[in-house]
Amino acid sequence: MAEKEDFYKVLGVERNASDAEIKKKYRSLAMKFHPDRNADNPEAAEIKFKQIKEAYEILSDPKKRAAYDQFGHAGIDPSMGGRPGGFGGAEGFSDIFGDVFGDIFGAGRQRGGVQRGSDLRYNLELSLEEAVAGTEAKIRVPVLVTCDECSGSGAKKGSNPIICTTCHGHGQVRMQQGFFSVQQTCPTCRGSGKQIKDPCGKCGGQGRVQETKTLSAKIPAGVDTGDRIRLAGEGEAGERGAPAGDLYVEIRVKDHQIFTRDGANLYCEVPISFTVACLGGELEVPTLDGKVVLKIPAETQTGKLFRLRGKGVKPVRGGLVGDLLCKVHIETPVHLTKEQKVLIEKLGQSLTGGGKHHSPQEHSWTDGVKNFFDKLTG
Ligand SMILES: [Zn+2]
Ligand SMILES: [Zn+2]
Repeated sequence: MAEKEDFYKVLGVERNASDAEIKKKYRSLAMKFHPDRNADNPEAAEIKFKQIKEAYEILSDPKKRAAYDQFGHAGIDPSMGGRPGGFGGAEGFSDIFGDVFGDIFGAGRQRGGVQRGSDLRYNLELSLEEAVAGTEAKIRVPVLVTCDECSGSGAKKGSNPIICTTCHGHGQVRMQQGFFSVQQTCPTCRGSGKQIKDPCGKCGGQGRVQETKTLSAKIPAGVDTGDRIRLAGEGEAGERGAPAGDLYVEIRVKDHQIFTRDGANLYCEVPISFTVACLGGELEVPTLDGKVVLKIPAETQTGKLFRLRGKGVKPVRGGLVGDLLCKVHIETPVHLTKEQKVLIEKLGQSLTGGGKHHSPQEHSWTDGVKNFFDKLTG
């Protein structure tokens, strides 16, 4: 879960910093990270800028600052800006299957001075079920492939490229610049050492043509958002017969109606009735492979988390299968009849009278609120 950064740390001030110090620090940071001033990476600057702004909004307000000092981020109205909570998504890439598919074309970036084809990225969306169970994905990608007319040579059928007359096939030329002799890529053949007198009609001498390829990618079970699968040699073809680049399939797992995923664990919310919460009972809950029965003990509080071991996800990199965590919330009955209202009224009276303590959180909560106001006014 993405923990929010401490507001004092965000602004780089001590916890006892004066209002003037906070204001000064905020101004200098806001100037530094203003997106308009960070043209090379505006997204990162914007995120930083928003964090700074949010921290300042809280710490510059004495009441909000007091609430934050006592309760941390929980003391602040969650609707006040900031990032949404929930489970943090995987960030950055992790190339986990580099070797599974093998490096068919070898790692040579360059061969004979000719540029290897570019790597391509394909964004693949999967449902949670597909990501957990694995799947075979059909992928259509526009790619530059080796021209079949000239087999990638770029020369017209029946003719052959000739040795470059400028560099005599070396791909490099020496240029005299004052006292210095500088080695440079040959401008005529752009380093290939060959020259095409009679270019291929289909590819115009490039040796590559644009095509749409349909590939079948095997997606192993357990992948998650941000994982990448490398299909070696399925990227762009290299220029004039140079090795092809790789195709990276980047996974994004779509939101699920019921489950939220956090690594190997799955979470879901389960509504239970007031009666079951009081007296206990059994409940059918969904898992990714069918329903299971969850036992709800008597006197269950709302928000309680039940752990179903091994009902989560088997991680793609190996390791234990995760758990399914079911959070129950108690539903307040609606559309009450007159009789039901009378019964609840009676129940309420019996719960408040009688001297027995029926509300486990009442005391700690009222104490907390009292402390909070005492601190504000005191
Ligand atoms: Zn061609
Ligand atoms: Zn040349």
